[in-house]
Amino acid sequence: MIKAAISGAYGRMGKMLIDNIVNSDDFELSAAFDIFNIGNDAGELSGVGTVGVPISDPENMGDILADTNTDVMIDFTAPDATVQNVTAASENGVNLVIGTTGFTEEQRYTIEQFIMKNNNSAVIAPNYSVGVNVFFKMIKEMSRYLSDYDVEVLEAHHNNKKDAPSGTALKAADVISETLGGKKYVYGRQGHAPRGDEIGIHAIRGGDIVGEHTVLFAGEGERMEIKHQAGSRQAFAGGAIKAARWITGAKPGIYTMEDVLGF
Ligand code: NAP
Repeated sequence: MIKAAISGAYGRMGKMLIDNIVNSDDFELSAAFDIFNIGNDAGELSGVGTVGVPISDPENMGDILADTNTDVMIDFTAPDATVQNVTAASENGVNLVIGTTGFTEEQRYTIEQFIMKNNNSAVIAPNYSVGVNVFFKMIKEMSRYLSDYDVEVLEAHHNNKKDAPSGTALKAADVISETLGGKKYVYGRQGHAPRGDEIGIHAIRGGDIVGEHTVLFAGEGERMEIKHQAGSRQAFAGGAIKAARWITGAKPGIYTMEDVLGF
C-alpha cells in the first residue's frame, strides 16, 4: 500500500483526493493537514465516513510525516503554504505531488531548489487532468501549422479562485510561445488595441465553473478554437492520484504530468 498524506485536506480538491484515496485499492491515507478543523476526522469532513485520520496542524507536518512513514504527500493549498509544506516533506524524504498554482518565480525557484537539495522526487503541474495535457499537445501542434494566426487564450473559473490568470492558461501561452520562438503576453485587452504580435490572455471568474480553457487561432477569413472543459474536480483528482502512484517509484527529480502520462 502507498501511504499518502493530503495537504489542504479541507479544501475543494483535498476532500476529493481523500475520497479517491479511501476508495482506492493501493493507497492508504496516512495523514491529513489543514489550518481549519484540526483534530476532526478527515474522512468525516470529506463525506466518506470515519477513517481514523485526524486533520493535523501543518506546524507539525515534518514529525507526523516521519512518524506515519508517509511515501507521498499531495499538496493543493496556496503558494505560501506549499513553500512551507515542501520544506517539511522534503526534509523527511517524502515524495510530492504539487497541485497549487499561482507561484511567483521566486516561490517556484525555492520549491525546486529544496526538492533538488534533498534528493526528492516531485511532480509539479498546473493541471492534472489527462484531457488538459492532451490539449497542451494539440495546441503545440496547431501553433506550428497556424504560426501567423492571432492567438488568444481564454479561461473561466469559479468565483473563489485565488489566482488569475490560471496556471493552465499561462502554461498554454508558454507552450505556444516556445513553439513560435517567443511571444509577448497581453493580459486583457484594455489599452492594447489595435492588436500587436502577441498572445492575449483573458480570465473570467464566476459561479461554480470548475475550469474552462479555450485557445483561439484567428486568421484571414477563418478561425479555429480548441476548448477543454472540466465538469468535475475528479478530472484533477484522478490525475493527481495517477501522479502519486507514478512518483512513488521514480528517481529523484522534478517531473511534469507529461512525464506521468508518458507523452
Ligand atoms: P481551497 O478550497 O481554497 O483549498 C485549499 C485548502 O488548503 C484550504 O482548506 C486552505 O485553508 C488550506 N490551507 C491553507 N494553508 C494551508 C497549509 N499551510 N497547510 C495545509 N492546508 C492549508 O482551494 P482548491 O480549489 O482546493 O485549490 C487549491 C489549489 O490547487 C489552488 O492553488 C488551485 O489553483 C489549485 N488547483 C490545481 C489544480 C491542478 O490540476 N493542478 C486543480 C484544481 C485546483 P483556508 O481556506 O483556511 O486558507
